[in-house]
Amino acid sequence: MKLLVIGGGITGLAAAWEAVRSTEHGPVEVVVAEASDRWGGKLRTEHTDGLLIEHGPDSFVAYRPAALTLIDELGLADQVISVSGTRTVFLRSRGRLHPLPAGMGMVLPTRLWPFVTTGILSWADKLRAGIDLLLPRQLQDDTDVTIGAFLRARLGNGIVQRFADPMIGGIYGASVNELSLDAVLPSLRTDELAHRSLMLASLAAGRKARTSGTRGANSPFRTLRGGLGSMIDALVTQLTAAGAELRLNSAVAALSPTAGATEVRFVDGATETFDAVIFAAGARASAALLADSAPAAAAALSDIPLATSTVLALAYPATAFATPVTTHGWLEADPAPISGITVSSAKWAGRAPDDVVLIRAFVPGRLGPIADADDDELVAAVSAHVGEVLGATTPPTQVRVARWPHVMPKYTVGHRDRVAAVETALAALPQWRVAGSPLRGVGVPDCVADGRRQAALALAAACDLADHRGADNRVFNQGSRQ
Ligand SMILES: Cc1cc2nc3c(=O)[nH]c(=O)nc-3n(C[C@H](O)[C@H](O)[C@H](O)COP(=O)(O)OP(=O)(O)OC[C@H]3O[C@@H](n4cnc5c(N)ncnc54)[C@H](O)[C@@H]3O)c2cc1C
Repeated sequence: MKLLVIGGGITGLAAAWEAVRSTEHGPVEVVVAEASDRWGGKLRTEHTDGLLIEHGPDSFVAYRPAALTLIDELGLADQVISVSGTRTVFLRSRGRLHPLPAGMGMVLPTRLWPFVTTGILSWADKLRAGIDLLLPRQLQDDTDVTIGAFLRARLGNGIVQRFADPMIGGIYGASVNELSLDAVLPSLRTDELAHRSLMLASLAAGRKARTSGTRGANSPFRTLRGGLGSMIDALVTQLTAAGAELRLNSAVAALSPTAGATEVRFVDGATETFDAVIFAAGARASAALLADSAPAAAAALSDIPLATSTVLALAYPATAFATPVTTHGWLEADPAPISGITVSSAKWAGRAPDDVVLIRAFVPGRLGPIADADDDELVAAVSAHVGEVLGATTPPTQVRVARWPHVMPKYTVGHRDRVAAVETALAALPQWRVAGSPLRGVGVPDCVADGRRQAALALAAACDLADHRGADNRVFNQGSRQ
């Protein structure tokens, strides 16, 4: 069995990991082809002057276990760290930083009193949110809608603008006014179905979690002491040791299914045959590679809109601030040149020397013209805003700008249909599987889980095909002997 994994981001490397460990289908020869000159894709950790800068993701959620499981298998479990100190995250709303109310989920409160007393929402917004308790069900059938439209109908615009958009938009790089309820927060649909009121559903879930002790005040986020890049380094080392062939600067140019196998052409003109293929190259690159053999799958992948994001790392001397910066960061519900910041040096141990404050600021494309500004203008606008909110007396002494143009798949309304269209279009080529953030989850744990699952499915399908070919050959040979 020979498996080609296209793309050496976390999805592709996790797929390769699954394949080298699989014993079900006999020995598997694994090749990972990565177009660029480095492994990890969006996972990019830089170590410089005592700073640990994450240019892409900086952490992952623990409640989706795939990342922690992989880390454990790689022998890195003792490198996992949780956020430092008490979780102090703020929302900047109506001109001030407010602590997130205790028990606040992504959108809804699990405890009533902190929600009632928060200054994030006006009294009018809180009263409007309370109408949810009285409203009948709003979803009439199983038609997908935007999260924004659904929440606005139930809870009013205040919650959408001041909680849902900053919190969900920050994760998905898109506004809740375009994100799909069914692809991103399907639990809201089931909550309405079961409880009618979303408030009642959330408060009931909070009570249940408190009684069973399953929901603490602790942050669900984890990372690795040496940054997420250390997971990539370990994967590369251990995959190579396990016999996988890892090729950098090796873009796949074209693929065509031949009798039961796949003929692959690389950019340097070399060709090679594989039994199974994982497309872990992102939505657009995978669509381009599928265009000839599976045009409907390519079309569905091309229909997935992509968000742009820029991450700025700003390092300040601690003396720039009158008081120590202990907050872990804030999200913006007010107009600003950023969607939020993380104070990496306060949130995670070992990100910066004690006398440095390291900040990560996010500028998603949805903020408009500022997102397209050149580096100088962007850095000036962001550091002026961050400096003003935190009271910095001097500008940052080190700055990095990481641009991620058109890379984050947006799960807009109809996303589930696009996923189904890809699946249907590839049903005739079950040994080809599309994996990673375009389809079934953008978070690192989702990508790890999906990479592994798709690798297992592709190998199983390729084995079935090989068995059928073997059976057909036997029938043919018997027939020709008779
Ligand atoms: C700024 C930012 C912050 C984020 N923060 C978080 C976070 O904190 N937590 C979290 O869980 N998630 C976060 N995410 C999301 C997460 O990082 C991504 O969804 C995930 O890393 C995607 O991994 P991937 O392997 O599927 O794709 P990628 O990392 O994009 O890898 C795809 C690889 O395929 C290669 N490739 C493309 N074309 C070809 C070809 N023809 N042949 C061979 N190779 C090819 C590319 O060079 C690339 O290396 C963030 C994303 C961004 C952009």
